[in-house]
Amino acid sequence: MKREKSEALFEKAKKYFPGGVNSPVRAFRSVGGTPLFIQKGKGAHIWDADGNEFIDYCGSWGPLILGHANDKVVNAIKTTVENGSSFGAPTALENELAELILDNNKYIQKIRFVSSGTEAVMSAIRLARGFTKRNKILKFEGCYHGHSDSLLVKAGSGLVTFGNTSSAGVPESFVNETIVVALDNEAAVKQAFADFKDQIACVIIEPIPANNGLLLQRKEFLQFLRLICTENKTLLLFDEVISGFRVRFDGAAGYYGIQPDIITYGKIIGGGLPVGMYGASVEIMSHISPEGNVYQAGTLSGNPVAMAAGIAQLTECLKPDFYKKLEEHTQFLIKEIFKNANTPNSNLKIYSVGSIFWIAFTDKEHIRSAEEIDADSMKYFRILHKELLERGIYLGPSGYEVGFVCEAHTKEDLIATAKAFAEALEIAMR
Ligand SMILES: *Cc1c(COP(=O)(O)O)cnc(C)c1O
Repeated sequence: MKREKSEALFEKAKKYFPGGVNSPVRAFRSVGGTPLFIQKGKGAHIWDADGNEFIDYCGSWGPLILGHANDKVVNAIKTTVENGSSFGAPTALENELAELILDNNKYIQKIRFVSSGTEAVMSAIRLARGFTKRNKILKFEGCYHGHSDSLLVKAGSGLVTFGNTSSAGVPESFVNETIVVALDNEAAVKQAFADFKDQIACVIIEPIPANNGLLLQRKEFLQFLRLICTENKTLLLFDEVISGFRVRFDGAAGYYGIQPDIITYGKIIGGGLPVGMYGASVEIMSHISPEGNVYQAGTLSGNPVAMAAGIAQLTECLKPDFYKKLEEHTQFLIKEIFKNANTPNSNLKIYSVGSIFWIAFTDKEHIRSAEEIDADSMKYFRILHKELLERGIYLGPSGYEVGFVCEAHTKEDLIATAKAFAEALEIAMR
């Protein structure tokens, strides 16, 4: 496979950007080699600068549930941008996307659009603190909630990929307000509530943790969190930036049937353009400025072009059996992989929910917390990733990241992937 153009572009990029990239995991450091510079995408396929074609399971890390350059999304963007790209004044498109979301999600009543997942979570935390008049937050080890200061403590995603789970540049006084406990550990949560009685503003969790492997939680654990938060007048915050509109239209809240107090969204909501959102009850949201005294603003918030892309994408998601089909395709892919794989003792596991899957090498039936992941097993992923690339299959370049099946993956794509997977796996296990 030719890599010359990507290599030249990367050399140049290294002069401009730290590590040659504008977001760390893109750098391929954990899998080795040069990141591919992508030229175009259509459906489930992408092409790099050297003209190599790949079946893509990264999907821009989740947003592209319809695949690349979906005609309806592209047309919505084009017709909207022709009338201007931003006004700093309200547009009808914001109402339209809000209506589409709120009519189909009973877990939130009022929302605020922002421009990224990070911003959504950062704002939601401020809201929780403003609402409860408490400072501390409780998060879980391995859950990633974007890169705002108080949340970069024992987070997943790029941090775990590079072996440091917290970030420099975060003042200790901030870290002191963040309590971190292991997932799936009720005793630790109870202890934290006892130690910091009446001080915890919110418990924040990815209800489907998917940034540090796929750490599927027991429903009982999430129900326990709901209960202990209610008992302590602490808000329960579901960070659904990755699970929202992905496992179902109404996300993990709908999947588990649990009512959180605040929910954050991002990724899919913008149809591939930068959009985030947080939502809650009318009462809680009334604390946001200009109604309330929790300040939060954005020059490009509710950007019309991004709203139009979101409306186009979410309209497709609402069609009958959309999620059922995605899940069936994902299960088909996993079955095909195991059917083709001729590698005994590989300890290969593929955990999945809806159209999210995670490839792991372990003998555990379930992995529910970050510390259960065997860091040493990443050596297999590294080879697997490289060999899959050689065979035209693109996975996110980290064994801690999940993959996504999108609507545009055809049966042929999935079958081809399973075949390539079997070959790559055999090499990884040598
Ligand atoms: C991706 C993600 C974020 C951050 O969103 P950005 O748009 O990258 O800022 C926050 N929380 C979760 C659960 C995510 O998956």
